[in-house]
Amino acid sequence: MRIDVVTIFPDYLAPLGLSLPGKARDKGLLDVAVHDLRDWTTDRHHTVDDTPYGGGAGMVMKPEPWGQALDAVAQGATIVFTTPSGEPFTQQVAQELSGHEHLVFACGRYEGIDQRVVEHAATQGTVREISLGDYVLNGGEVAALAIIEAVVRLLPGFMGNAESLVEESHADGLLEYPVYTKPSSWRGRDVPDVLLSGDHARIAAWRREQAARRTADRRPDLLPPTGAVTGLPDL
Ligand code: SAM
Repeated sequence: MRIDVVTIFPDYLAPLGLSLPGKARDKGLLDVAVHDLRDWTTDRHHTVDDTPYGGGAGMVMKPEPWGQALDAVAQGATIVFTTPSGEPFTQQVAQELSGHEHLVFACGRYEGIDQRVVEHAATQGTVREISLGDYVLNGGEVAALAIIEAVVRLLPGFMGNAESLVEESHADGLLEYPVYTKPSSWRGRDVPDVLLSGDHARIAAWRREQAARRTADRRPDLLPPTGAVTGLPDL
């Protein structure tokens, strides 16, 4: 997979060289380039923003540098605009994006990017406008980092143990069951007996039940509508 990120703060993306994305690069699964939007400005001050038409607070990112940047790096790509007005980012979206060959992330700042850039990008590739959640960040870089991390760990060959992906929260529509490690007793709290039993069928049933219970308690919105045939344990 090839990922290009366009931003006015390239240093913000330094973590892409660390940890798992860094390993994916070392393994040759991922090719990442971070670009400074200001490289596509033509004035002495490398201006990327201007006042909004119609008035109002703040500044808007100018279309010209974005147009030049996308012309240079985004032909035929899936172009992700990070924006609080976008579709919510979910594991399903991560799964979809992980199947794309070339992702380009356009990181907004100020009051966002001139809307014509998004329209123009749709003539160059496939546009996805994606929100990290219902809150406002200062810029799109943190959102791009989060999306990239969630996508890259789904690339075939990326995770040492691919099974851990199958059992994770959101992989099957449920939150993950609680997990424990050694010691079996810690500060008067014991690991549930079933996990020490060695009975794999009982362990699997317990985990499924715990996952369903946790999802019902914390995120009932994730559960299928009552009456749907699901195979979930009755709580
Ligand atoms: N005025 C914009 C609005 O009300 O929707 C918010 C602009 S925000 C201060 C600047 C940039 O941060 C946005 O253009 C976007 O790239 C990024 N951003 C902020 N919140 C985000 C979120 N929840 N998800 C994804 N990107 C976000």
